[in-house]
Amino acid sequence: MPPKITCYGGVGEIGGNKFLLEDRDTKVILDFGAGFSDGADYFDSSIEPRSVNGAGDLFEFDLLPQIPGLYSEKSLQNTPMKYTEPQIDAVVLSHFHWDHTGRIGYIDPKIPVYCGETTSLIHEAYSDSSGSPLDGHAIRKFRTGDRFRVGEMEFQPVHVDHSIPGAYGFVIHTSAGAMAYTGDFRFHGPAGSMTSDFVEAARRARPRLLLTEGTRVSPSDAATNMSERAVLEDASKMVMGTRSLVFSTFRGNDVDRIKTFYEASRLSGRRLVVSMKVALLLEKLKGDKKIRVPRVGKDVDVYLRRKKTGKFDDSDYYAWERPFLDVGVSAADVRKSQGEVFLHLEAFHFPELVDIKPERGGTYIHAATEAFNEEGEREETLIRNWVEHVGFRYAQLHASGHAPGKGVGQLVGGVAANKVVPIHTEHPALFRRFDRGHRWVLEPPSRGEPIMLPP
Ligand SMILES: [Zn+2]
Ligand SMILES: [Zn+2]
Repeated sequence: MPPKITCYGGVGEIGGNKFLLEDRDTKVILDFGAGFSDGADYFDSSIEPRSVNGAGDLFEFDLLPQIPGLYSEKSLQNTPMKYTEPQIDAVVLSHFHWDHTGRIGYIDPKIPVYCGETTSLIHEAYSDSSGSPLDGHAIRKFRTGDRFRVGEMEFQPVHVDHSIPGAYGFVIHTSAGAMAYTGDFRFHGPAGSMTSDFVEAARRARPRLLLTEGTRVSPSDAATNMSERAVLEDASKMVMGTRSLVFSTFRGNDVDRIKTFYEASRLSGRRLVVSMKVALLLEKLKGDKKIRVPRVGKDVDVYLRRKKTGKFDDSDYYAWERPFLDVGVSAADVRKSQGEVFLHLEAFHFPELVDIKPERGGTYIHAATEAFNEEGEREETLIRNWVEHVGFRYAQLHASGHAPGKGVGQLVGGVAANKVVPIHTEHPALFRRFDRGHRWVLEPPSRGEPIMLPP
């Protein structure tokens, strides 16, 4: 039997990557994420899967594959599936985004998780605050240049540029030739050359199969592609042109964005103020010699929300939050110096604006993906209402974590695999357009159907 790969997620959808790799008697799970609209027809914040039923409520709607020897005892309690000792050798993780990690919490903690060193630090930051899906698993760390073996397969992780640090693609050497998996990537971020390193390493291995993301491969692929550099330039202009407060919503683990807004603040003589969660992540990443991040308390301040008594008592805060109380900036502090602050404020913390009382004429920067589903549209409406309520101007400014269609074509051409399997895309058939010379076989995956490594 040739090695095979079965896709259980990321099939005709963006995110939700879940792959099973099998080579003789070795079985490896490659990413195990939640889809962005997983189960949206049955569940939302008002109807949630019951935890007493483990994974059972997700099995009901085929939101998790019933793979024997994968799940923990707790996940299988009260489900028709019987618990057995692990039959999966390892979970290999490309990066710490929810659509790649979100379902790892159901996996048997006896199965080790392989991830990048940076990812393990991000995991620690989540673990210390809200919890991480990797909690309870043995973590085996790697860096570019390392190779690690799991049974029949040898994994060669190679860094790629993406909207979270510590993102990897893999060249996987099986008993019958190589294959490559991109994870999520772009070329237009501050470390775009890392993605070129991946392409080069993958090409050299002469892969028989390429599993590649195609988030932005679509019939209406936008001609413009904003780089992180352009976000910095535009943000700097906006900030300099604003007399009152600037506040922005962006993904707190997008370290490139934090650095961009730190730089925009510095250039315009403002202080960047971040949430405690971001501060914790920056503290953890100090432990990574390959990454430079702004220093908490020196370069950036921490926003101090009132909790419980509302009087900033130590006992109002979790243990992980208390170290930040000394460098904290309250709503009253921000209110007094509105023209000197660039505030990171997640939408769910917008009620803080009631205390801050922003002076009219400030700027709000929505530095995240534009809404692409109903839930996102609902959130965008709320955000716009708040921004209008405080009399601010609304600006959209974002560099995507994903290569546009052209960049995906560039990667596919560069890797030159015999077979291309498009995942993490709504338009797998459109990949045909990247193969003018008919040099490779296109195989859009079907959920749960194994794909053989070509001989
Ligand atoms: Zn993804
Ligand atoms: Zn991602």
